[in-house]
Amino acid sequence: MRRTRIVATIGPASEGADTLRRLVEAGVDVFRLSMAHGDIPSSLERLRRVRAIAPDIGIMIDIPGPKIRAGSFGTSPVVLNAGTTVELVEGFGETSSAERIYVEREGVLNLLRSGDRVHIGDGGVSLMVSEVGEVVTTHVTSAGPVMGKPGLSLPSSIMNDSLPTPDDRARLEALRTEDFDILAVSFVRSGQDMINVREVLNRPDVMMMAKIETPEGIENLDQIVDASDSIMVARGDMGVRLPIEEVPHMQKLIVRHGIRGGRPVVVATQMLESMTHAQVPTRAEVTDVANAVLDGASCVMLSGETAIGDDPVATVTTMDRIVRRAEASFNNALWGESLELRNFAHDSQAHRITAAISGAAWRAAMEENAVAIVACTRSGWTARAISRFRPPMPIVAISPSEKTSRQLRTSWGIDHVVVDPAQDIDALCDVAVKDLVERGIARSGDNVVVMAGSESGGTAVTDTVRFVVVP
Ligand code: PEP
Repeated sequence: MRRTRIVATIGPASEGADTLRRLVEAGVDVFRLSMAHGDIPSSLERLRRVRAIAPDIGIMIDIPGPKIRAGSFGTSPVVLNAGTTVELVEGFGETSSAERIYVEREGVLNLLRSGDRVHIGDGGVSLMVSEVGEVVTTHVTSAGPVMGKPGLSLPSSIMNDSLPTPDDRARLEALRTEDFDILAVSFVRSGQDMINVREVLNRPDVMMMAKIETPEGIENLDQIVDASDSIMVARGDMGVRLPIEEVPHMQKLIVRHGIRGGRPVVVATQMLESMTHAQVPTRAEVTDVANAVLDGASCVMLSGETAIGDDPVATVTTMDRIVRRAEASFNNALWGESLELRNFAHDSQAHRITAAISGAAWRAAMEENAVAIVACTRSGWTARAISRFRPPMPIVAISPSEKTSRQLRTSWGIDHVVVDPAQDIDALCDVAVKDLVERGIARSGDNVVVMAGSESGGTAVTDTVRFVVVP
């Protein structure tokens, strides 16, 4: 089993039914659908179509926050050459070119000043403003190809809206009755941003993921972890808003903070970028994916590679191979031993008890060479709490909820979820043992550690570790 999960962004290259099915077969755990492209009705239509084709896969909806998009450059690369003049013009649904870029946001162009920099996409291509007016004149300072509908990064003073932005609010309202599993929130700068978005969405069943991509997001990381269910290291915008050499170090910091808080962490952007067009990734990209696994990431994510790339399925297959090899070099015992304790003071008492119990379950499983750890979980928290220890043996979750099962596809090492309504601990242990024996993971005499809630507790709190010897 691969234990680190794969997130694939869906776009024109991958949204056909056949490609979606092949992506699932190739190992995708979660499909990401960005709401930055297209209008709300077309985003909802795509979401429903993907859900119908992939009922067991996690679906992550990504809302763009204050991100500004350029009008589409089309599906083939358009090269912006150094020193050439490019006009920026406000416009919606128009086609951009090497000479004229349409900016899909009202009233921002008149805030630009001469000398301001505008970064395109993930920052490889940059412009400098030379003349302001209704049409803004710029020249290319960092050349390169652009395609699709890249984001435009304007100075922070212009992109400092609090969350949710009015556009995001409209998206959240439209999503209120839709069937999806995870909401990724862009440009989160504080815990309060997550609280606000959670309140507007008003869907306690949806897992909230904070995208960390600004200096403020890093400064307020602890409060954001407290206010979120999961985290994304959004390296694209991070590399524009912070000095680019900071990115690898911020990745390690965010992964460590998120995982010790029991929040799955996705490492995202440009992981196999060259495979958007090439059949083989660069050595640096292969090393980057492997290093994300060694850093302890829960998921690695593909963006343009699967959304607009030449061969999304081959890219996922390549990522799967790199991850499996890296996992063979991951020191699970060392990770668990050195996991920093975290103060869960901002979590509920139920979460705190579960977190403490998961430490006992991990130690019992390690000391007695258990063949599996079983997490009985309604919301998924019990499974996430044990996952943070990265145990070498399989983790199996038992949950009454299909949605929890799909959300656990963001969690490292939850190798299998049994959807079963059992509640009583004895019944849960029976379900677990039957599943492990049937799948050849446990045999008579093997040890299994089960985490569950006791009947006498009254509320849904995981307060029990039971050591089961398979009969
Ligand atoms: C990023 O900036 O790295 C990111 C994941 O966000 P998006 O793809 O929406 O730009």
